[in-house]
Amino acid sequence: MRIFRCWNRLLKRRCMQRDIMVAHQEKKLAEERKHQNIQNNKASQGQWGRAWEVDWFSLASILFLLMFAPLIVYYFIMSCAQYQCSLTDPLLDLLTGNKHLSEIWNRTPMLTYRAAAVYSLWVTFQVFLYVSIPDFCHKFLPGYVGGVQEGAITPAGVMNKYEINGLQAWIITHVLWFANASYFHFFSPTIIFDNWIPLLWCANILGYAVSTFAMIKGYFFPTNAKDCKFTGNFFYDYMMGIEFNPRIGKWFDFKLFFNGRPGIVAWTLINLSFAAKQQELYGEVTNSMILVNGLQGIYVLDFFWNEAWYLKTIDICHDHFGWYLGWGDCVWLPYLYTLQGLYLVYHPVQLCTVHAVGVLTLGLLGYYIFRMTNHQKDLFRRTNGNCRIWGKKPEYIECSYTSVDGTKYYSKLMTSGFWGWARHFNYTGDLMGSLAYCLACGFEHILPYFYIVYMTILLTHRCIRDEHRCSSKYGKDWKCYTAAVPYRLLPRIF
Ligand code: NDP
Repeated sequence: MRIFRCWNRLLKRRCMQRDIMVAHQEKKLAEERKHQNIQNNKASQGQWGRAWEVDWFSLASILFLLMFAPLIVYYFIMSCAQYQCSLTDPLLDLLTGNKHLSEIWNRTPMLTYRAAAVYSLWVTFQVFLYVSIPDFCHKFLPGYVGGVQEGAITPAGVMNKYEINGLQAWIITHVLWFANASYFHFFSPTIIFDNWIPLLWCANILGYAVSTFAMIKGYFFPTNAKDCKFTGNFFYDYMMGIEFNPRIGKWFDFKLFFNGRPGIVAWTLINLSFAAKQQELYGEVTNSMILVNGLQGIYVLDFFWNEAWYLKTIDICHDHFGWYLGWGDCVWLPYLYTLQGLYLVYHPVQLCTVHAVGVLTLGLLGYYIFRMTNHQKDLFRRTNGNCRIWGKKPEYIECSYTSVDGTKYYSKLMTSGFWGWARHFNYTGDLMGSLAYCLACGFEHILPYFYIVYMTILLTHRCIRDEHRCSSKYGKDWKCYTAAVPYRLLPRIF
């Protein structure tokens, strides 16, 4: 018996020693891998992609956003719920001591089981549609590009494949929504509006969880170590992301999933819920609400119709996946891009015909410019310049760049069509459309105009960020291009 106990103790000690050794080896391996990543990354300095070194301005902006972006979202939504969408009244109340912060907070609905259940079901359903149903739309919709598509070459020289089935997910979700609203009546179409703040807490939980998971994943089990970036600054890496294309398994791509669904599929459903609330409260849906639903609906549908094109945009081609995309897609996008619809629930605006036609014209014109500019670049790149733009062979500048492994690639920058007018005329069209949504809400409050202010800052910053990246990617070729097309957004102005 004694011998047996001794043997047992010896065995336990051996096991513990082995565990410690394994843990030690694993730690060493993780350190080596981290070191290797840094080496890889250092070797690729000067390549394109997000920053390698963090300047004080970027760091200050990032800290500001990490601290205040969630508060900004809360402030806007709370202003509508408690102050009829006035942005100044809550501040005035607090500054004059009329109200304490705690009073505002106490009147804010908390997280509920119902909201948690609705949100979990929603996200699970979107994951199911994304991973389980291969695209069938491209089989019967002429001109639609879906199914397995290739993305752009990453800085490490990898070409990712994507299952493009967003349009199908959007259609299925909306068919079910309308089937419920008009026939099954399992839940009220106002469900989103009715749970708007409790759902905000759920969206925040998901946003933070996915960003934190992406950070941990980037350190310990990246999908492609050579496409990771470490600046050494925790906050910058958390915000701007480490991994370029984090994936789970072969097909679950974080960037494609989180940006498109639950964010953009939700956009049109949220607007529909706001329209249903107007109907419930006032017995009618105003023409401004119809305009906002219609114009934003076109924008959303365009996104899914062109999801394959989206693989070639900055979000997928150049941005790493961090809080900026993870939290932004879960919280910022569904809550702040839909402010016009929310505002119209509290302030039902009936526009006169001239105003409504003006908004519609501006919205459609903006959309046309946005789509045509993007289409011209897509066509030009797909055909390697062998196409016609405005009836003529496109003009362009030949350029080259090098990936991390030293391979040289060749590309072309178009200087004709809308791309000859300005270097980002697609942003100009987007801004015109954004202004139209805001103008649909009349002129009584500034809250609905937040969107155009935000989009102007976003797209101007994006323009500068993209040009900085293109400049380090293409070097002197980029200089030739900017000399040929000197303006960014507006010919002769900016
Ligand atoms: P672009 O589609 O303009 O893509 C920029 C990239 O296109 C550049 O990095 C470069 O990539 C390539 N490029 C630049 N100039 C030329 C040229 N002359 N000829 C050929 N290729 C060129 O930018 P985004 O991805 O930012 O935007 C896509 C659309 O999405 C825009 O219309 C924008 O308005 C919209 N958008 C909307 C947002 C929203 O929140 N609603 C947010 C962000 C974007 P390469 O390295 O391949 O040369």
